[in-house]
Amino acid sequence: MAKYIFVTGGVVSSLGKGVITASIGLLLKRNGYRVKLLKIDPYINVDPGTMNPFQHGEVFVTDDGAETDLDIGHYERFLNQSLKRENNFTTGQVYATLIEKERKGEFLGQTVQVVPHLTNEIKSRIRQLGVDSDIVIVEVGGTVGDIESLPFLEAIRQLRLEEPPSGTFSIHLTLLPYLSAAGELKTKPTQHSVQKLREIGIQPDMLICRAEKEITWDAVRKIALFANLPPKRVVRASVMPTIYDIPLLLRKANVDREILTQFGLPFAESPDLTDWENFLRRVKNPSRGTVRIGLCGKYVHIRDSYKSIFEALVHAGAANDIKVEPVLISSTDVEKNGAESMLDGIDGLIIPGGFGKRGTEGKIMAIKYARENKIPFLGICLGLQLTVVEFARHVVGLENANSTEFDPSTPHPVIDLLPDEVGFEIYGGTMRLGSSAVRLFRDTLVYNLYRQEIIHERHRHRYEVNRAYRQQLEDAGLTVSGEAVDSGLVEVVEIKDHPFFIASQFHPEFKSRPLSPHPLFVGLVRAAMKQNG
Ligand code: GLN
Repeated sequence: MAKYIFVTGGVVSSLGKGVITASIGLLLKRNGYRVKLLKIDPYINVDPGTMNPFQHGEVFVTDDGAETDLDIGHYERFLNQSLKRENNFTTGQVYATLIEKERKGEFLGQTVQVVPHLTNEIKSRIRQLGVDSDIVIVEVGGTVGDIESLPFLEAIRQLRLEEPPSGTFSIHLTLLPYLSAAGELKTKPTQHSVQKLREIGIQPDMLICRAEKEITWDAVRKIALFANLPPKRVVRASVMPTIYDIPLLLRKANVDREILTQFGLPFAESPDLTDWENFLRRVKNPSRGTVRIGLCGKYVHIRDSYKSIFEALVHAGAANDIKVEPVLISSTDVEKNGAESMLDGIDGLIIPGGFGKRGTEGKIMAIKYARENKIPFLGICLGLQLTVVEFARHVVGLENANSTEFDPSTPHPVIDLLPDEVGFEIYGGTMRLGSSAVRLFRDTLVYNLYRQEIIHERHRHRYEVNRAYRQQLEDAGLTVSGEAVDSGLVEVVEIKDHPFFIASQFHPEFKSRPLSPHPLFVGLVRAAMKQNG
């Protein structure tokens, strides 16, 4: 029978609940258990696919094409395993299922209610994950006390009652704010947050406390007393240099051992984390200095919008034993000030994915600058599409070439929706989502990076390189070095006479992990190092 861990948050949001959940997952995995992670999002949207990245951050795409919360990215990176649609659900999805059942008459005339119908649906989705795993860790989004997370907490209360006492474990993550006037960390908000949780009927088994200062033993004892816990179950997680330190910190605090002891399960005497420690050492003390990689996009004020790209750069930096300093460049600023001044001092450039016209001309200017000045370049999704537009305009000489997403009446629609062609599975207007096979051609930059002919990468886009222009682009020197196996559509382009210039229709950042850094990012950072001397 699977065991269940619930992770809730108190006091404020943004405490790093996703990373804590992922870290506990990693520790339990290294104790030899099959672990599954689940993120529950209390909003009514069915998925974050339609949400503004300004508000919600990146949409993370899984192999099976689910558009999920960015915490799923942390889960994959820490567990070093691919997750699925089942690992994330929202209030919207639970209601959608329930309403569909109600319309089909499956409730046989009953009044359909939050308790028990909604909570039953939630419990059954949680238990579904327990079918083929030893431990399921459920992270509840939001903060205890929010109206919208109440049905989930109620479902957890019921589930804890139904399972044996050694079958569940509740972890509550809180903040101890620092008041400079008092000169100390305050424990009251944590006490109140635990009270709130108890009011709902959940007594936490462990508290993890974040703070911006060192937490004293006195504070720990006080919190433990009010929370009805032994002091060893109040874990101090204050100053942490990087998110990748957290598993080691939780290990030191015996978090995995405490959980497994309550579950009555054996624990490893010293779970092997050597690979993780080696990775972390290279992240924190690289021996080769720093490279600066520019990221030119629309959402540069919100780092979460490009979360996986930033993390992929950390992984690639560690792989090359160098620190990568990401430099955010606003594409609309490039339009105003020109590429030269905005890209000054950059050793490499990334154009990330994106939707909508704003800033696209700035991105095209940045790509032209990188191509002409031999700056190592990686284009991703929209980044590939704009690379093709730039090349069509300035090398092939197709004036006003564009994507029909940005100029529906362009004379040269080099990027276009795919017409409904017989024999192709992808149709115009439908988003291509999830993993599919790509064939790489030998003697190309991309092949030399992967050293594999068939790769699998994740997609999230609608527009494609227009077949009608492919020959013209190739004749002018844009090499198509990767194609979709099923449709023959363009997946990777590159140019030869350049130290590193490559763009992919897929999103490599979703598959980069600390312990398996992505070849495209590793290659970009390596080329940028050479650039830098
Ligand atoms: N807007 C483009 C498309 O739909 C690119 C999408 C992306 O970069 N993720 O094809």
